[in-house]
Parts: sequence; structure tokens; C-alpha cells
Amino acid sequence: MAEKKLETSLVNAGRSQKFTQGAVNPIIQRTSSVIFDSVAAKRQATQNRAKGELFYGRRGTQTHFSFQAAMTELEGGAGCMLYPSGAAAVSHAILAFAAAGDHILLTGSAYDPTQGFCDKILSRMNMTTDYFDPMIGEEIADLIKPNTKVVFLESPGSITMEVQDIPAIVRAVRRVNPDIVIMIDNTWSAGVLFKALEFGIDISIQSGTKYIIGHSDAMLGIAVANERCCVQLRESSYLMGQMADADTVYMASRGLRTLAIRLKQHEKSGIEIARWLQQRAEVAAVYHPALPSCPGHKNFIRDFSGSNGLFSFQLKEKLTPQQFTDYLDNFHHFKMAFSWGGFESLILGYQPEEIKMIRQYGTPQRTGTLFRLHVGLENVQDLIDDLAEGFSRISVD
Ligand SMILES: *Cc1c(COP(=O)(O)O)cnc(C)c1O
Repeated sequence: MAEKKLETSLVNAGRSQKFTQGAVNPIIQRTSSVIFDSVAAKRQATQNRAKGELFYGRRGTQTHFSFQAAMTELEGGAGCMLYPSGAAAVSHAILAFAAAGDHILLTGSAYDPTQGFCDKILSRMNMTTDYFDPMIGEEIADLIKPNTKVVFLESPGSITMEVQDIPAIVRAVRRVNPDIVIMIDNTWSAGVLFKALEFGIDISIQSGTKYIIGHSDAMLGIAVANERCCVQLRESSYLMGQMADADTVYMASRGLRTLAIRLKQHEKSGIEIARWLQQRAEVAAVYHPALPSCPGHKNFIRDFSGSNGLFSFQLKEKLTPQQFTDYLDNFHHFKMAFSWGGFESLILGYQPEEIKMIRQYGTPQRTGTLFRLHVGLENVQDLIDDLAEGFSRISVD
């Protein structure tokens, strides 16, 4: 049989008879304790505790095993670990590999709490972090020290959206020291638009809170590791007590079934709005990976199979405080909120000095006010009308 296409895999993954017990969907199995009928059964469960068999709630139930099997298949890994949030997945993936005295290289466009974790928590454990320009490519080799243990990527970057040259980075890191663990925050791709492990990355991390759960109603962290890193990540995360509850994991499984079609609509409306913004006289640049004005657009075209509804744009001017609030406080559809990946449209605004605070590198070079949009599943014309009204609120004439 021909290899399954993404849409088909998303419908089928994790739905074997063992997990569904004859129903369409995997069962929701809630438990802390697992009852063993005999000493022999307990001994056997202990032996197989990491192999997708019931042992103790913190090791997961059939609900978890189903979703973990699905994510392992979708991302082409050796195993999948679950966490109560995306931030927990990031911090525990790093902690599973880095120790006192180690050095971490982190992209300068990383999600803000990832930077905070390295600067405020890892620093207390005598680990050091250096930031690199997301557009660095092969030159990352020059930043690797004898004690560099983890290279942490995120592409596109949070808020400023730089798409990294991953093949060049992976090649350079492996050439200098093949033992370095390369991780990526792969949330933007939902684990399916960019196949991180196929590019030689060891661990693909994402916030399942975003597109996989897809309805802004639950939080989950996911990490899929390759053969080389799977056991260490799993055992370390287990010892640090990391797990998600069965109900949330069920919602993530349910999200997978419609992920492809949701992403397609987010992509279609996102590109339409990005192009519309590009025509506006107020706009200096649109940072949408599918448009040439986004840093790393060529990498995106080469390495990704599609885009979604999350991107940014920057104005030519810096808005006055009054314009900034008039603009943001009065949208009908674009609500102001953190997170993204749900069905609803969102907006966040950043003045140039705020961008500087969260960015170790000077991209974007422009000095205007920046907005990040999440384009939801509303009618795209309604969204464009909303944005057009927004521009009329800040026009000076
Ligand atoms: C939201 C987000 C996270 C954190 O995920 P939570 O589930 O909110 O903890 C991490 N990385 C990126 C890129 C994100 O957008």
C-alpha cells in the first residue's frame, strides 16, 4: 500500500483496537493505581513499565498510550513524552540532558519563557546560556564550546518569525560535536508542517495547547524524541513527575482528527490577510513565513509543507500611546490574549522597546510598532474589515 498522506494519518493514528476497544475513539482511562492480580503480574508490569503497558498512573493509561503512539508515528520518532504544558515540555527536555557546568545555545528568537527558564533557573544550577542570531546558519559552529550540551532551536521564532536554516545548523553542530543534543520548539508547525526529526534534530517539542488541542480550552506539552534520546528523556521526565491527565490527552487526540483541515483554513485566511496587509501604506513589512518579506522565507519554502494563521507585521511608524490603545482596544474579532492556535482570532501589540526586551538580536531592524496576529476560523472578509477599521482609528488625517 502507498504511504499514507498526512490527512489520513491524522484520522487513523492511535486508533488501533487496543486503544478504542471497538469504539471510534480511544477510551478515556482515568486512574492513579493499577491493580495487579498476582505477584507475577506485578513483576511483569514492572518489567514492561516503559513499553506502553499499565503500571502506575504517572506512566500513563491507554488514553496516553494511544496519543503517544499517534505523535510518535506523525513525527517519525522513537517515543513521545507528555507534560502539563508546553513550557514544562521545554524545561524538562533541557533538564533531561544538561547538568551543572554545561553550556546551552539558545536561539535569540525563542519563546520568552524559554529564555527566562535558561536565564533564571538554569543559571542557578551553574549552567550557562548563550544566544545566537536565528539567521546564523553554519556559523553556529563558532559558538560551540567544549561544554556545550544542548542546542535549542525555534523556527519560525516567536513574534519576529525568523525561519532558521535548520539543515545548515544541524550539519555544523554535528561536525563540531556529534554528541550535542539538538532540540526544537516546533509548536508553530504543530509537529506536522515541519518534520524536525527527519532533519536530524533529536527532540521535537511543542505546546499541544496551540493547534493540536485547537480550541483554547486545555493545556498540554509534547516532546517526541529519536532513538538516541528517547530513553533518557522518558526516564528523566518520569523522575521529575511529569505527566498530563487522561481527559486533556483525550482532547489532544480528538484535536488530531481535524488538525489538517483546520490548518488549511488558518493558512488560507492567514495568507490572504498577510497579502492585504502588505498593500497597506501604514505597513513596513509582513513577517509571514510564506511571504518573501519574512527573514528566512527561502528556508521556509525548502523545509516546510505549509503555514498556518500565526504571523506578525510591523508598521512604518511607532504609534503614540494613545494610538496604540485606540488601535488595540476596539477590535470586534481580534481579541487581545496570549497563546494562539484556537479557532479564534487574536492580536498582540509590541512597541519597539518591548521587542528589544524580548530579543537578543536586532531583528526586525525596523523601528515601527509590531503586531502579532493569530488568524482564526472566522470569515476572512469580516477579519479584513476589522483590521481596516483599526487602521482608520490610527490615521492622522
Ligand atoms: C505557547 C508556547 C509555548 C508554551 O506552551 P504552554 O502550553 O502555553 O505552556 C512554548 N513555545 C511556543 C513557541 C509557544 O507558542
